[in-house]
Amino acid sequence: MHDIELDYSGDRYQARVPDTLDLSERAALALNALGGTLDPNLRYLPYGLVRYASKTPFMAHWACADVTCNPKYGEGFPMMRLVSGSQQYAEAEVHNRATMLSTVEDGLYWDPWTADRPWRNAYAPHYYGEGKNEDFAVVGATGLLMRAMSAWDEMGADSGLNSLRAAMVEGMRRVAIERADYCYYPEKGGWGEPCTYPRSGWLNTDEPETETQGGEGSVTCYHGNQIYGAAQWYMLSGDGKALDLAARLTRFVMQPKFWGGVADPDMEHARAQGLKNHVAARLPDPPYTAGSELGHWYSHFHARAITLRGMLQYAWAAGDERVLEFVRRAYEFTLTQGLPRIGWINCYPGFGGAEGCSVGDLIALGIRLSDTGMGDYWDDVDAVVRNLLMEQQLVRADLLQQVADASPERAYDNAFPNQRNTEGAIARSLGTFAGVSQPDRIVEPSVMLCCTGNGVRGLYYAWEGAVREDGDCAQVNLLVNRAAKLLDVDSYLPYEGRVVIHNKHARRIAVRVPAWANRRQLRAAVSGVARPLDWVGNYLIFEDLQPTDTITVEFPIRETTASYTAYANSPQEIVYTLTFRGSTLVDIAPRTHSPRDYPLYLRAEMRKDVAPMKAVTRFVPDRIIRRW
Ligand SMILES: [Zn+2]
Repeated sequence: MHDIELDYSGDRYQARVPDTLDLSERAALALNALGGTLDPNLRYLPYGLVRYASKTPFMAHWACADVTCNPKYGEGFPMMRLVSGSQQYAEAEVHNRATMLSTVEDGLYWDPWTADRPWRNAYAPHYYGEGKNEDFAVVGATGLLMRAMSAWDEMGADSGLNSLRAAMVEGMRRVAIERADYCYYPEKGGWGEPCTYPRSGWLNTDEPETETQGGEGSVTCYHGNQIYGAAQWYMLSGDGKALDLAARLTRFVMQPKFWGGVADPDMEHARAQGLKNHVAARLPDPPYTAGSELGHWYSHFHARAITLRGMLQYAWAAGDERVLEFVRRAYEFTLTQGLPRIGWINCYPGFGGAEGCSVGDLIALGIRLSDTGMGDYWDDVDAVVRNLLMEQQLVRADLLQQVADASPERAYDNAFPNQRNTEGAIARSLGTFAGVSQPDRIVEPSVMLCCTGNGVRGLYYAWEGAVREDGDCAQVNLLVNRAAKLLDVDSYLPYEGRVVIHNKHARRIAVRVPAWANRRQLRAAVSGVARPLDWVGNYLIFEDLQPTDTITVEFPIRETTASYTAYANSPQEIVYTLTFRGSTLVDIAPRTHSPRDYPLYLRAEMRKDVAPMKAVTRFVPDRIIRRW
C-alpha cells in the first residue's frame, strides 16, 4: 500500500488562447519546484529552505520542517499535476509519498530519529531546549497528512487509506489533553516546535495561557490542522469521533484569551515581555471593540489562518453558525491589515511583510466562506490570485541570478554535513513561493517550504474554484483561462474587458461578473446573437445552450489609480500609488531598487489594449480534488 499511484488521466487538445493569467503554466512551474527541491539522497524529503541572496545560491534542510511540512508537498503534487497535466518528477512524487506513509504508526505521523538528519532538533532550542535523539510527532503534521490523504483518496488512491485516516483520528485524540468540554495539545510538550509529542510521552501538559507562547507566536495554529483533518474525514465518513475531536479542539482555540487586541507596532512591548523574533505583543482593544469575539489577531497571520481554516472546515461540517460567523469576522478584519486589493496583508505586525503562506490561506478562506454562504468573496479571491499569488511565485531565473550575483557568499544554514546543496539551486527551485514580500519587492529573496506548500495549494484552490461543474450546469467564478469538462474559458483580462466561453456540454452557465465591471455598459452574446442580461446576484445566467455555442461577455476596462498606506500608523508607514486595470495591478510606486531584491509587478506589457495570443495544450483531468 505504501507505493500509491494516483490517476492522472485526462484529455489533451491544442487551442489558441489569450496569453493572459495562466494557472496551468504556473502549476507546471510549481511541479518543477516541488520535485526539484526534493532530496533524492534523503528519502525524497524536501529541502526546507532556498537562499538566493548568496553568491552561490543553495537549498538547505531545515530542522524538522522537512518532515512536518512534507504533507503539503504530498497534497501539492496531485493538485499541480491535474492543473497542468505535467508528468515532471512523477517518480519522485511516488517516493516522497511513500516516505510519509512509512512513518505513520499508532495513528500518528512521526518524525523518526535517524543519524542522517543531524539538523532535526535545530529549531527553536531557545524555547524548548536542545531536544533528544528520540522519535517525536508534531501533532499538527498528522492533521496535515490527513488532508493530503483526502486528496490522494479523490485521485483514486487505494481505499486502505481510509482505515488509516480513522486510526489517525484516534491517535490525535489519544494524545490530546482532556478538559471538561475541550481538549488541547500542550505547547511545551516536547521540543523543536510547539505541541510536539515525544515517543516517550509529553514532557509537560500545562494548558497554554496566551497565543504568543513559543517560537511561532501562535499556539492555536498548532491545533488547526488536526481540526481540519478530522472535520474533513467526518464529512466523508460520518465518523462521530472525528467530529467530536474537531468540536473539542475548536472550543479550545476559540477561547477569548487567544484573540482580540491590536499589535504593538514598534515591538517595544514584545521585547519587554520577552517575546522574540517576529512575535508581536497584544495591546488592548480600541474602545467599543470586542476583538476576541470577532476573531481579531495581532501576530503572525499565517499561523492564525491555519486555525481559522480548521475552524471553518469544522463549522462547515457541523453547521455551526457561531464558528462560521467568527471566521467570517476574522477574515474581514484581516483584510484591514494591509493592501487587500492586491492581497498583500502585513502578516507580521511590528516586524513587517506578507508571508507566502498567507496567499494560499486567503484564497481558501475567501472561496470557502463563499461556498458556505457567508458572503460573496470572489472579488477578494480574484484580487489575491491576479496579484500576490502570481508575484509571490518565483518565476524569473534571470532576476534570481541577478540577486545572487549582487550578494556576498553566505555561510548560513550549513552547520551539518549534507544539510546544504548548491547544485543548480535556481533552476531546481524555480516555481517556489517566496517567504516574505513587501508590496513592491522581495528583499533578499529566500524560500521556506511552508510557503511553497501553501502557495501551490492556493494556486489549486483558485483553479478549482474558477469553474464549478455539476451535471449539465457550470458556474464560472473567476474570469481566468480555464479548461473544464463542460466548457473552456478564454480570458482577455486585463488587456481587454472580454471573456469568451466555448461551450462543450453545458445546458446552463452562470458567469460571475467582477464588481469593477460597469454593468450598465456590459454586453453579452451567444454565438454572435445579443442576449438580454439575466442576473442572479452577481452572476449572469445563460440557459438552453447548445454544445457548440460561444458565449461572449464584454465590458469596458480602463486604467485607474489609487493611493493606499501600508504599515499605517507605525514606524514603517509608507504610501503606495497603485495602478490597476480592472483588478490587476499593472504598476506600483514608489519602488525601492536594490540588485539584491526581487522586484514585483514588472507588468508594463499588461498596459496594452489588445491581448496577445498563444498556442497551448489544454488539459482536462478525469478526476479533480473537490473536498480540499
Ligand atoms: Zn510560510
